[in-house]
Amino acid sequence: MTILLCQFGNETNTFAPGRLNFEMLAPQGWTEGKQVEAVFSGTRTYLGGALQAIADAGETALPIDLVTNNGNFGAGPLMTGECAQRVVDRVCACLEEKNGQFDGIYFAIHGAGCCELDEDLESYTLRRVRQVVGREMPIVCSLDLHANVTDEMCALADAIFCIKEVPHTDCYEAGYQAAYHLAAWLRSRERPVMAMRKLPLLLSPVLGSTLTGPGKQVKDYFAQYCREHNLLDCSFVHGFSATDRSCSSASVLVIADGYAPEEHAQHLADYVWNLRNRFADPDVPDAAGAVEAALQVQQPGYVIINEGSDNPGSGGPGDATHLLREFLRRDLPGTIMGPMYDPEVAEYLHTCNVGDRVSIRLGGKTMALAGAPLEIEDAEILNLCEGNFISEAPLNKGLPMSYGKSARLRKGNVEFIVVSVRYQILDEGPFRMTGADLKDYRIVGLKSMNHFRGYFTSRAAAIISADTPGARPGNILLYPYEHVQRPIYPLDRDTQWP
Ligand SMILES: [Zn+2]
Repeated sequence: MTILLCQFGNETNTFAPGRLNFEMLAPQGWTEGKQVEAVFSGTRTYLGGALQAIADAGETALPIDLVTNNGNFGAGPLMTGECAQRVVDRVCACLEEKNGQFDGIYFAIHGAGCCELDEDLESYTLRRVRQVVGREMPIVCSLDLHANVTDEMCALADAIFCIKEVPHTDCYEAGYQAAYHLAAWLRSRERPVMAMRKLPLLLSPVLGSTLTGPGKQVKDYFAQYCREHNLLDCSFVHGFSATDRSCSSASVLVIADGYAPEEHAQHLADYVWNLRNRFADPDVPDAAGAVEAALQVQQPGYVIINEGSDNPGSGGPGDATHLLREFLRRDLPGTIMGPMYDPEVAEYLHTCNVGDRVSIRLGGKTMALAGAPLEIEDAEILNLCEGNFISEAPLNKGLPMSYGKSARLRKGNVEFIVVSVRYQILDEGPFRMTGADLKDYRIVGLKSMNHFRGYFTSRAAAIISADTPGARPGNILLYPYEHVQRPIYPLDRDTQWP
């Protein structure tokens, strides 16, 4: 049997300014089909997992041209129609070229994509794939946990296996599972059948972690239920509350061997619904409060303050100035701020030399909510680099990463890193690439909501979240929703369901 592999999708934050074009979606450009195995085999990515499952099953992998964002999916503002069309046109051309050479398709989708052509990017993609390969071709997908699942998505794919962890440390496992069950199905096992329940529920990103709290409770319950009832997969899909579309909400997906597991899906959806109040109302300090809290930490080592509202992995511009402004105001010894996206300043710094003292206007250039630019005078350039390293993060360990032209500077006691590529920080790489060793610092600022925890939880003395204004604040009651289906909890407290 031959299994064709592809990947495309996006996590679209419709509150983020501007439009997402192809260059932002896929900073590394296309990975050609013939390079896919060399790039992704052995990595902790969806494709790495799928390739391993196909090899373990003794089947043949047939990758086609695809785009990823460092092995995962990009996030950003609404995708242009041109970008979506460009990618799907090429995918469909590859499918036509390989027609007759494969028995099934593994397709890694995200599930929270929106483009100018369709509010459901993944259904747009799968619809066009079906137009080429027909309704009978087995298609099994993997899915990001922040997907806004739709009925059409579920009708177009035969089965969808979602990741379970926030931070997303199990992309490999989801890719493996999807390809494994597809291979088993092709070898004449019973067809996997899926049931989906949508909940009128939006989750705060601050309460979405599965390491602790209600996220962990639901994950553990679903895993146990899946084992006890001999199901192929049970997922609580959190949805993506920064997508303002009618399809935005949490959902439950259950997959069984040969029968529709409707009752199981309903039971699990009821279980989540009864916990809904625990997914609302996060209590998170602002930047000043977070710095105060960091000063109270007694444990040795470094304390991380994460500015999740400006997380480039959720569509944040990565150039918000709230947390760095507070760092500069306090001027505490041993403070460092991770990547600040500002290609203009990075370009300028690379015309200077290490040791030079410069005056710059940093960040705050993409959206008003992200704060005004910082006017920083007489900062010393400590390091200039090209921003390259190999990922150590559980989410995509082993993949080469690049932040482009980058620099580390110092103003008073505070150091900060400037980069040219907008990408969520997942591990120490962005500090190390500039010669900084986190052991030498006490307070470390960074822009990520949850994924950085996969690497940093066991390493940091403490992690303190700062909720600042931005594209993805923790308090979703502040989002100016216009299109989500109402009533929905917690925007409408008395929402009744089912
Ligand atoms: Zn996600």
